[in-house]
Amino acid sequence: MTDLQDARLTIDLDALASNYAALKSAAGGAEIAPAVKADGYGLGAARVADRLWQEGARSFYVARLSEGRALRASLGDRPADIHVLDGATPGSAAALEAADLKPVLNSLPQIEAWNSHARDGRRAASLHIDTGMNRLGLRLEEIKVLLGAMDRLKHVEIVQVLSHLACADTPDHPLNRQQLERFTEAAALFPQARRSLANSAGIFLGPDYAFDQARPGISLYGGGPTGVPDARIRAVATLEAPILQVRNLPRGESIGYGATYTATDNTRVAIVAAGYADGLPRAAHPRGAIWFDGALRPLLGRVSMDLLAIDITDCDAARPGAMVEIIGPNRLVDDAATAAGTTAYELLTRIAPRAQLLVRP
Ligand SMILES: *Cc1c(COP(=O)(O)O)cnc(C)c1O
Repeated sequence: MTDLQDARLTIDLDALASNYAALKSAAGGAEIAPAVKADGYGLGAARVADRLWQEGARSFYVARLSEGRALRASLGDRPADIHVLDGATPGSAAALEAADLKPVLNSLPQIEAWNSHARDGRRAASLHIDTGMNRLGLRLEEIKVLLGAMDRLKHVEIVQVLSHLACADTPDHPLNRQQLERFTEAAALFPQARRSLANSAGIFLGPDYAFDQARPGISLYGGGPTGVPDARIRAVATLEAPILQVRNLPRGESIGYGATYTATDNTRVAIVAAGYADGLPRAAHPRGAIWFDGALRPLLGRVSMDLLAIDITDCDAARPGAMVEIIGPNRLVDDAATAAGTTAYELLTRIAPRAQLLVRP
């Protein structure tokens, strides 16, 4: 009997390096500061930061304090700026400083927390300017309050100002240009600070958006900047799983929970050892498909916790133990995500806690 393998997640670090180079060239002279939050979009923050550091990256973004501490520990004595997007609170300021993390200050109370934490000297931080996302950051009115009371910054050195684009993946959305204009205006109030606006998609909006530093995430990890595959971006993650069984589904019979699919003809089916516990969306979708033996094979019925079914009617190669490709160079993460009614971001960050991990090279 064939020995069945676990699902397998392969991380191609050369593809990551190639995406870093592609983004760097698209961003002109701007620094590339990778977003490695959410465990490097599910691919392993320590592993991706290690390779990106070798490629020349010296600034990284994480969301949480805990992610920043873990990244600092994994980088060891290699110098790097680690920016924490959650910012600083009275409870986190000391821990941020102890791990040499730079908060992205998002509000007047956060500025107060960072300022009052320091008793002497000035502690470096970034300032988040809200230019229209209305999620985090100071609005222009609040920046004017801040600049009218400079003692609020007595112990804070704003080394960088940043903002985040809401619609960069829709290049002709009018909010892009509006945010660019508001950012340019607000950033001018901090002439000493470096400026950072673009995420992956922002880099491709044009040279005006690059400023001093860009902060790409998804396109480092294989997602196209606008949610569809992009020839400049290579697949980094490949998720494969073995076929457990091949069977016939007679015409008129259904398959899987809820009997949501009924065969309109006699159908050859492969049952694959992967399901929503491996991070695949449960939602059945008419465009759902899995790559096997040179073609995309339609998903049949619902994805269950550990299993899914695909149509292999015209395929002779299917047998227990053969591996199918759920995400990878033949089934790009953007296409797999679209078919499941989600995004590459969500798909990658949910992948395969249970899969066996391989790292290349
Ligand atoms: C996550 C994040 C990024 C990276 O965005 P991508 O769309 O993945 O390139 C950049 N900046 C901020 C503030 C973020 O939260």
